[in-house]
Amino acid sequence: MKSHAKAVVIGGGVVGASVLYHLTKAGWRDVLLIERAELTSGSTWHAAGGMHTVNGDPNVAKLQQYTIKLYEEIERISGQSCGVHITGGIMLAGTRERLDWLKMAKARGRYLGMELEIISVDEAEKLFPLMDKSHFTGALYDPIEGHVDPYGVTHAYAKSAQIGGAEIVRHTRVTDLKQRADGTWDVITDHGNVHAEHVVNAGGLWAREVGRMVGLELPILAMEHQYLITGDMPELAGKKESLHAIDFEGEIYIRQERGGMLMGTYERAGVPWSPVQTPWDFGQDLLPNDLERIAPSLEVGFAHFPAMGAAGIRKVVNGPFTFAPDGNPLVGPIRGLNNFWVACGVMAGFSQGGGVGLALSQWMVEGDPGADIWGMDVSRYGDWTTLAYTNAKVRENYSRRFRIRFPNEELTAARPLRTTPIYEKLQERHAVFGDYCGLEHPLWFAPSAAEAHDEVSFRRSNAHPHVGAECRAVRDAVGLLEISNYGKFEIKGPGAAEWLSKVMAHRVPHAGRIALTPMLNERGKLIGDFTMCRIADDHVFLIGTYAAEAYYLRWFERHAPPAGVSIRPCAMQYVGLSVAGPKSRALLQSLVREDLSNAAFPFLSFRRMAVGMVPAYVGRVSFTGELGYEIWVTTDYQRALFDALTQAGREYGLRQIGGRALNSMRVEKSFGSWAREFRPIYGPFEAGLGRFVDFTKGEFIGRSAAADEKASGGKLRLVTFKVDAGDADALGDEPVWHEGKVVGWVTSGAFGHRVGDSIALGYIPKELAAAASGFEIEIIGERRKATLLSQAPYDPAGARMRG
Ligand SMILES: Cc1cc2nc3c(=O)[nH]c(=O)nc-3n(C[C@H](O)[C@H](O)[C@H](O)COP(=O)(O)OP(=O)(O)OC[C@H]3O[C@@H](n4cnc5c(N)ncnc54)[C@H](O)[C@@H]3O)c2cc1C
Repeated sequence: MKSHAKAVVIGGGVVGASVLYHLTKAGWRDVLLIERAELTSGSTWHAAGGMHTVNGDPNVAKLQQYTIKLYEEIERISGQSCGVHITGGIMLAGTRERLDWLKMAKARGRYLGMELEIISVDEAEKLFPLMDKSHFTGALYDPIEGHVDPYGVTHAYAKSAQIGGAEIVRHTRVTDLKQRADGTWDVITDHGNVHAEHVVNAGGLWAREVGRMVGLELPILAMEHQYLITGDMPELAGKKESLHAIDFEGEIYIRQERGGMLMGTYERAGVPWSPVQTPWDFGQDLLPNDLERIAPSLEVGFAHFPAMGAAGIRKVVNGPFTFAPDGNPLVGPIRGLNNFWVACGVMAGFSQGGGVGLALSQWMVEGDPGADIWGMDVSRYGDWTTLAYTNAKVRENYSRRFRIRFPNEELTAARPLRTTPIYEKLQERHAVFGDYCGLEHPLWFAPSAAEAHDEVSFRRSNAHPHVGAECRAVRDAVGLLEISNYGKFEIKGPGAAEWLSKVMAHRVPHAGRIALTPMLNERGKLIGDFTMCRIADDHVFLIGTYAAEAYYLRWFERHAPPAGVSIRPCAMQYVGLSVAGPKSRALLQSLVREDLSNAAFPFLSFRRMAVGMVPAYVGRVSFTGELGYEIWVTTDYQRALFDALTQAGREYGLRQIGGRALNSMRVEKSFGSWAREFRPIYGPFEAGLGRFVDFTKGEFIGRSAAADEKASGGKLRLVTFKVDAGDADALGDEPVWHEGKVVGWVTSGAFGHRVGDSIALGYIPKELAAAASGFEIEIIGERRKATLLSQAPYDPAGARMRG
């Protein structure tokens, strides 16, 4: 084994092998993979090898498409067969909701260039004669589905990497990792040490343990997973290889395996494996079968596919593999650990392994993943993901793998975990809560405890009229909204403003003022949007998306401020309440001594003041588009602030409002939001944030790329549509059609209660942004007329919020 390498990849499963290959492809030859045993000795060797392109996140779906196309390339380079069988597949729906879900998946696939097709049960039966069609209502057909040989794929990556200059060492276990003062790594193994600039944790089943070597508790857990193989079936003899199938009602997947069928389950009573510590001596072992646990799924499966029941069970495989709480991989650099990368929690290695390897290698070599991988970025998790939290969420996710997650469905595991001081007070007022980074936050308020729940649906739900009443209260009087669920940072020090001016695209405001600002990467793409509140010359309060806190901090660390400037993440040390609506000024004025008149405290002011007895920061800004104020206090004061506002608010018709009303109102104002309208695939001019990019202030990250975008206009435009929507609004990811062709996609949608219309925001090519007509948005399989609006539907001039 060499004693020095530019990068050491720990783990020779399908993911580590893919990372190694992609590093060589990106130009790094001095790379070494260290494997404890033989390649594939984790979860890879006993995988069913199934692969498919469909994924709830279109950006992950793109990486899945990439993975499947890659097999030809690595077979060609390595001469090793991947055993690719592209059979095509069907997803079978047994309920109307599932068929709706499939229609939406098909629609999403359109702008990804996927040729998915909704077919009738009769057509499905022709393609997949093993099914008893009486159990189903329709299906989605995907021609690009199939399976591969896990051994073949891993070795094809490995050989291709070796041809590209990589070295692979087997039967060598990494036992520890030590970081030197210069940030490089000593990789300690049971066969000597390697000094490396970069380390990649692709430890699969042991990724958690490898993480612990550097003090990380990665949110991953292995679950036992079983599939069985039937005896040979006469129904298959002499026929073309059977399609893959997913039966959502049975929560099973099926494919042909030689002369029989392979059937795997995601049972509801899933069992974690080695929940605290994965044994190092676990090798190419299988776990004892537990058919009883999957009996309910098998029963449904054998009823839906009777020939399989008749064929009997030839073999059962029970093996563990790892999941993150949301089922998506964990990829990227770890903040605070120089050049320490992870590629783990990959539960669909044969659909995603290639994309993960590509994104990570580009990130390592080029400094940027080159694709929008927000959904897989390890930084989406924070301190709240303890071992027990991960356990609860992974079990939930596993049990729901084939269940529908409705857009208004809040999952229940690991809740309530984090609450603000007013949680009980909101509960008393019949709040329906959502979970955001483990934090309970109010979504809407029901008239009674009995009504305080969501009836899950793709269409407008029981919350609709109540959310409407909340929006109208904000339009006509005043609403009170908890806004604690934001990320907050305090930037302090003599050079704070100077540093921020380099990191943010907009000018840092003067003391007492607020500026909205995009944050750009070097390619001029959006990697954040913030509210910068200048408290004093050397003190800025920065507000952004909480889910991206670690993502932002990682970026801030990479572009570290000079000595003397400190960055303090303080999300839960400051919590907030917002009052918005035409009566919000009078309400707040009744509690503060400062003059809140427009002249004395205009739009975008920010000041420290006492609200009643509570010391607070008050900013004059509101995401609702109304006159409004955001009030930030340290957590110990939130109850007193809430009591003061609600008591004083009686006189002004104050109503509690939740996140759903806020979403409706910001969509009516065409206000974008992080991870929806603002993502690293868009530039600020495409996203309508061009006015917040200040080219007059001097150098900042992304300046020259942003200038190019300004000159060229970019490729896309964020636009707003009014939709003839029926009883279901757009939600996000629906295709936008123009004159019979898919030209774009929706990023957000909601019913705009103040304007009385269904509204959608989305991206289309800039050339079409002036098109007068011809647009449609596909909502649950129906193309609905969409009218492109030239300005925000509600108060486009902003008179209400400035008034
Ligand atoms: C029963 C079953 C069926 C499945 N079916 C499918 C399917 O149909 N389709 C699909 O896409 N996926 C399927 N999977 C999931 C798939 O197996 C995983 O997505 C994939 O194997 C993950 O690969 P990995 O490289 O991340 O992890 P692993 O395969 O666990 O590889 C990690 C490797 O790292 C090595 N390692 C760990 N720590 C160290 C260390 N300290 N030093 C040296 N080496 C170390 C291990 O020995 C191991 O070889 C299935 C899994 C199971 C169990």
